[in-house]
Formats: sequence, structure tokens, C-alpha cells
Amino acid sequence: MPDAVPALEARHISKTFGELEVLRDISLVVNPGDTISVLGPSGSGKSTMLRCLNFLETPDRGQVLLAGEPVGRRADGRLVSDKELAKSRARMGMVFQSFNLWPHFTVLQNVIEAPTKVLGLSKDEAVARAEGLLAKVGLADKRDVYPFALSGGQKQRVAIARALCMKPDVLLFDEPTSALDPELVGEVLAVMRDLAKEGMTMVVVTHEMGFARDVCDEVVFMDRGVVVEHAPPAEFFGNPKTERAQRFLSRYA
Ligand code: ADP
Ligand code: MG
Repeated sequence: MPDAVPALEARHISKTFGELEVLRDISLVVNPGDTISVLGPSGSGKSTMLRCLNFLETPDRGQVLLAGEPVGRRADGRLVSDKELAKSRARMGMVFQSFNLWPHFTVLQNVIEAPTKVLGLSKDEAVARAEGLLAKVGLADKRDVYPFALSGGQKQRVAIARALCMKPDVLLFDEPTSALDPELVGEVLAVMRDLAKEGMTMVVVTHEMGFARDVCDEVVFMDRGVVVEHAPPAEFFGNPKTERAQRFLSRYA
């Protein structure tokens, strides 16, 4: 049988900001249904890498493929139109450390905004979808409140429901629990663990080593703009090959 087309692939991505080479020849393959965790010290380029996957940052070189189709830039190097890029982005949900909910929208309005505006869903369809997702993340009773009335953990669960309401092919998370009080981390990770179990394809930048070890299919360890190790979690945590990974992990022991 031929190998399945990766859900998401980065090929030889590089990015500089001025003099600073932030990403150097990054390649990544995410198979359908897999959850990949991206680990690495602060400043190693994790967020930039994630943002290059949906062209929130434009990589200087390299290609991104979503289910085999180019994102952002064609094989000949030309950038795609804004409309095409918006289409690709709609298939990749993103969840940020700082939630990024719209403060002047209720929870429900936050969740239905993109599906109605971007996908053209009718309001009834979007509301039905949103209500199902809010129930799934345990927030059915919060649909009509505004974000200020939510805890950080609740806000992040709304952000996940909002991303899911687009029925994305891939979800990208950038340190989704880093802004949360420790007692609220678990409720967000539980939602993410359920998604992984259901076969959602996810790329998760995180410092939650337990999540990376127990939930993820692959670990990508970055340092100073390069992928230093790429291995199944048992191998990465049990037998890190490089001194850099060993040093990084020793801080979490
Ligand atoms: P991480 O997410 O691993 O902490 P980042 O991708 O945020 O790392 O940043 C990697 C490096 O790139 C850091 O040195 C950071 O200061 C720099 N950087 C990130 N974004 C920009 C930007 N828009 N302009 C200039 N430098 C940036
Ligand atoms: Mg970051």
C-alpha cells in the first residue's frame, strides 16, 4: 500500500528576522490523526515554526503542504493569492496561549463568527454546531456570557470550541496552557487528550511534559531554530540522543 499523504508537511522551512536566523531548514511530517508535540527552550523558534505552517509568518524558503496541497506558496516559489491562503488557513485551526477571544462577543458569538463569515454556514447551522462543541468542552451553560466572566481555563476551552467549529483538518496549539493558573491546566489538557483520542490531527507546542509523553505520537525537539530530535515519546524521554535534549529534559526531572 502506498503511504498515506501527510495531513501536514513542512519542507526545508527557513526564516530570518533581520540578522537573526530563527528557523534553519525545518522539516516536519504530521500524519493524519497524529498528535505531535513541539518541545524546546524559550526562543528556540517554536512559535515561529507554528506560524510558518499557516503563513501567519511567511517563511523565506521552503514549502508547506496541507494534505499534499501547497499552502501559501506554490512549488515554483510564487505566493498564492490572499483568497487561496484564507482557504488553507480555514482548514487549520489555531489556539494561542492568550486565548484571543473577542471581548465584545459572547461565547456563542465567538464560536459562530468564523463558520458563518468564512464558511458561509447559516446562523442556525452554526449555532447547532457551536452548542454541540460547547457541550463537548463542558461549557454549554456559558454560551451567553462574555469572556471577561470566564476563568482562563474556560476561555481556552471556548477557544478550542471556536477552532473546532470550522471543522479543521489540523489544529495548531501554541502553548495553550502556559497562561493558566496551575489548577486550570488539567481541564484544558483533558479536552486536548479527548481530541487526540478521537483522531484529531494536532501540532502542540507545549511545556507539559506529561502530555507530550502520554498523549503524543511524536515529539519534535527544537533548539536554536533547528529540529534537534524527532522521535516517539518513549524514545525521546527514555533515551534522548543529544546533549541538548538531555539538558532540556533535566530541567523537568
Ligand atoms: P519560541 O516560541 O520557541 O519561544 P519564537 O519563535 O517566539 O520562539 O522566537 C524565536 C526567536 O525569534 C526569538 O529570538 C525571538 O525574539 C525572535 N522573533 C520572533 N518573532 C520575531 C519578530 N516578529 N521579529 C523579530 N524577531 C522575532
Ligand atoms: Mg513561543
